[in-house]
Amino acid sequence: MEKFILDTQNLLKIYLTPRQIAAFQRYEQELMDWNERMNLTAIRDVEGIRTKHFLDSLTCALAFRGRVPASLIDIGTGAGFPGIPLKILYPEIRLTLVDSVGKKIEFCKHIVKTLELERVDFSTARAEELGRMPAHRELHEWAVARAVANLPILVEYLLPLVKVGGGMLAQKGESGPAEAQAGERPAHLLGGRLRQLVPVHLPGVAEDRYLVIIDKKAATPPNYPRRVGVPTKTPLK
Ligand code: SAM
Repeated sequence: MEKFILDTQNLLKIYLTPRQIAAFQRYEQELMDWNERMNLTAIRDVEGIRTKHFLDSLTCALAFRGRVPASLIDIGTGAGFPGIPLKILYPEIRLTLVDSVGKKIEFCKHIVKTLELERVDFSTARAEELGRMPAHRELHEWAVARAVANLPILVEYLLPLVKVGGGMLAQKGESGPAEAQAGERPAHLLGGRLRQLVPVHLPGVAEDRYLVIIDKKAATPPNYPRRVGVPTKTPLK
C-alpha cells in the first residue's frame, strides 16, 4: 500500500487518511476474493489493482478542479471503477452506480455495505434507459465512465444524465485525442462542449491515459438518447 499512498500524493496531491487507506485495503481483498469465483476484472495482481484500478480512478479528481461534485453517476461501473474509489476519497458525494450486468452491481452493493459508504444508489440498467427516466435525466452534476464505449457513443450515454452547468468525464487510453475529436460534434448535438483533454501518466504504466472533459452547456434534445442499442449500432457523427 505504501507505493499507492505515495503515488496518490505525488500524482494528485491527495493525502489519504488511515480510514481511507483501510477502505482501499478491504476493497482490494474483496475484489481478489470475488474474482476467484466470478470474472469481475482481468487485473488480478495487487500492484495492478492499486495502480490501474484505484489510482487510475482517483485521477478523475483532476477534472473537478478542487470542487467536490455534489452528485456523480458512474455508467458501466463494472467492479466499481471509477465510482467507488471516488466515493472513498469524497464521502460527501451522492453516488449512483450503474451497470447493465446484475452480478457487477451485486458486487458493488457488497463493497458499499462492507465499507459502510452512505448515500449510494444502484441501478442494473442500460445507460440509454436511464437517460430517459425523469429520476435521472439531467439531474447529475457529473457523469463518468471508464472503458465503456467510444466517445461518440459515450456522449449519448452520459450527457442526457448531466444537468446544465455540470459535466461528463471519460477516462481514455491512447485513443483519447482521436476520440475527443470524433466526439466533438456528437457532444454539441447533445448540449455538450469539449472543455479539455488532460493527459495522465500513471507511474510504471507505459500507455498514455487521458481524461476527456465535456461541459454541459445546453439541454439535451428530447429525442436523445435513442433506443437501447442504437447508439452503438449507429453512433452519432
Ligand atoms: N468501468 C469499469 C472499469 O473501468 O473497470 C468496467 C469497464 S467494463 C470493460 C464495461 C462495463 O460497462 C461492463 O460491466 C458492461 O456491463 C457495462 N456497460 C456497457 N455498456 C453499457 C450500457 N449501455 N449501460 C450500462 N452499462 C454498460
